[in-house]
Amino acid sequence: RSAGGYILTVHDLYRHFGGINAANGVNLNVGRREIAGLIGPNGSGKSTLFSLVAGTIKPDRGQIHFDGHEIAGMSPHRIARLGLARTFQIPAMFDNMTVTENLLAAAAQDHWQGAHERAADTLSLLKLEHVADNRASDLSGGQQKLLEFGRVIMRQASLILLDEVTAGVHPNIRKIMLEAIARLRERGISFLIIEHDMEMVRNVCDRIIVMDSGRVVASGSFNEIVRNSEVMQTYLGR
Ligand code: ADP
Ligand code: MG
Repeated sequence: RSAGGYILTVHDLYRHFGGINAANGVNLNVGRREIAGLIGPNGSGKSTLFSLVAGTIKPDRGQIHFDGHEIAGMSPHRIARLGLARTFQIPAMFDNMTVTENLLAAAAQDHWQGAHERAADTLSLLKLEHVADNRASDLSGGQQKLLEFGRVIMRQASLILLDEVTAGVHPNIRKIMLEAIARLRERGISFLIIEHDMEMVRNVCDRIIVMDSGRVVASGSFNEIVRNSEVMQTYLGR
């Protein structure tokens, strides 16, 4: 990608847990306004990569360049303030607060300017207006996933990491998420998305990055990846 270069560059990143090399020399890029999908078998190191990029796990060595900053080893708080946000596999929210209050709380730290307008916009984007005043604990599982995504949107990040946000959710909710991701990209936001649903990957991702055993083993368009029989058999079919 030439114009604007990459928003994220990971170079030769390593992290082990005991004898497991969860990141074993990871190299990857995410372009500005790109929606990149990250796939690979369970245990291949996808979530670990997210934690390394977001700063909640420190790398043993390697570089992570985000939006003009070298962030490897930086605290999660500082990385977040530079404009990087992630979701977790299990939604994080305040159960006793309403949906709107949860959105405002996500903005409270350093993005308070215009927060009420952004909360209204986010409710509309995620089609949550009708439950705006409901307690988060009263939402369905799928709606809670939408709310977690909404809390990330409120952070006004330039790169959003989504970890299996559509796993197990109703197709209607998945569609809302897909449309929201596409709209946010139009506004200039980049995405790196861990996703198991190949239909979702095909529909939303510009490019697919395949991980196995702590490394990136392939990258390309959906068609290039599914035509790569070695990747399909070795990394997805087992
Ligand atoms: P994925 O998200 O692709 O399923 P993970 O990044 O969660 O893979 O895990 C990669 C490997 O690292 C797995 O073998 C996993 O058991 C191990 N691992 C991840 N996090 C930890 C941790 N905090 N402590 C020990 N091992 C871990
Ligand atoms: Mg994972």
